[in-house]
Amino acid sequence: MRVLVLGGTTEASALAKLLADDKRFSTTLSLAGRTSNPRPQPLATRIGGFGGVEGLVPWLRDEKVDAVIDATHPYAAQMSANAAAACNQTGIPLGSIVRPPWRRQEEDSWRIVPTAEAAAAALGKTPLRVFLSLGRQDLHAFASAPQHRYLARTIEAPEQAALPPNIRILQARGPFDRDSEAKLLSDEEIDVIVSKNSGGSATYAKIEAARELDLPVIMIARPDKPAGHVLHSPEEAVAWLHDRAPGSLRGV
Ligand code: NAP
Repeated sequence: MRVLVLGGTTEASALAKLLADDKRFSTTLSLAGRTSNPRPQPLATRIGGFGGVEGLVPWLRDEKVDAVIDATHPYAAQMSANAAAACNQTGIPLGSIVRPPWRRQEEDSWRIVPTAEAAAAALGKTPLRVFLSLGRQDLHAFASAPQHRYLARTIEAPEQAALPPNIRILQARGPFDRDSEAKLLSDEEIDVIVSKNSGGSATYAKIEAARELDLPVIMIARPDKPAGHVLHSPEEAVAWLHDRAPGSLRGV
C-alpha cells in the first residue's frame, strides 16, 4: 500500500517511524521545506510544495498513492485544504491526525485573537516586553507595533526585512521544560506572551510558566481547516491504514 504522509510535526515523525518498520506500506513523507536542517527521517522524504491542488492531484496519481495521512500542524491550513480537495478529486482516502488544543485553566489569563495582526494590536499602546513564541513567518505582523520590545523564539532565523525594530531572536527548537521557560520569562522581564494554540506537550511549558508567573497570554486562535477521517494519534493512523491495506478484513 502506497502512503503519503504530510508532515512537519512530531506526530508525522512518529508515524514515519512506525510505517518505516511495517513491510505492508511503502511510505513517502512530505515536508514543506521550512527548516533548512530537518530531523533525519527513516523513510523516503520529499521536500517542497506540490504546486497547489493542481500539482498534488497528478502527484498522487503518478505515485499511485492509496491513502494520504495529513499530519500537518494545526495552523497549516492551506496544505490541509489542498489535501482534502485533491483526495476528494481522486477518491483517495484521507486520514487527518488532529492534535487537541490546549484548554484554558482557571488560573490562566488568555486573550484569544484571530490573527497575528490582531495580536499585535491587542498588545496596546504602552510599551511592553513581549515574548513571541511563533513561527518566523508570523513575526512581520508585529512591525505595526514598534513601541514594544520583542524576544522571538524561532527554529530558523527570520528574514530581517519588515521585522519590528526592537526584536531579538532566540533560535531554539523544543521540547522545552517548565523551569527553563519560567527562568527565561523572568530573566527577560517579559510582560506578555504571544502564542499559537499548538497543543501537544513539546511547547506547553511556556503556558505552564505563564500560569506560574501570572503572565497574560495572547493566544492566536486556530484556523478552521478541513480534515478527512479524524485520527487522534500516529498509532491510530497506522490502525486506520491497516484496515485499508489489501488483505485486511476491510480491504477484501
Ligand atoms: P500552509 O500554510 O498550510 O502551507 C503553505 C504551502 O506550503 C502549501 O500550500 C504547500 O505548498 C506547502 N506545504 C505545506 N506543508 C507541506 C508539506 N507537508 N509537504 C509539502 N508541501 C507543504 O503550511 P505552513 O503553515 O506554511 O506550514 C508548513 C509546514 O510547517 C507544515 O508541514 C506544517 O506542519 C509545519 N509547521 C507549521 C506550523 C505553523 O504554525 N503554521 C508550526 C509548526 C510546523 P503547495 O501549495 O505548493 O503544495
